[in-house]
Amino acid sequence: MEKLEGKEIRMKYVKKCPRCGGEIIEKEVTEVVYGGVNTAFLTVQAGVCLLCGERLYTADTIRWFEEIETKLEHQEIEDFQRLGQSYRVMAAH
Ligand SMILES: [Zn+2]
Repeated sequence: MEKLEGKEIRMKYVKKCPRCGGEIIEKEVTEVVYGGVNTAFLTVQAGVCLLCGERLYTADTIRWFEEIETKLEHQEIEDFQRLGQSYRVMAAH
């Protein structure tokens, strides 16, 4: 049963990178999502190209990114863990 699940996970991504043809492995990555003035760091499983670093996400993961983006835009951040503050710094010269 567990083996079957592993197979399904591997089949979520194409075997070759669509950009460079490199090998795709599944890896945990951190993706930054922006919504309005807010930013969230999301840890997700992705297919990552060993050669160029291209990231592939499943449709479910992309939908989740969009959900978080909307929540950030609407300040629906009660469930999110606060990491710090963001600042804009203008060049002084
Ligand atoms: Zn690649």
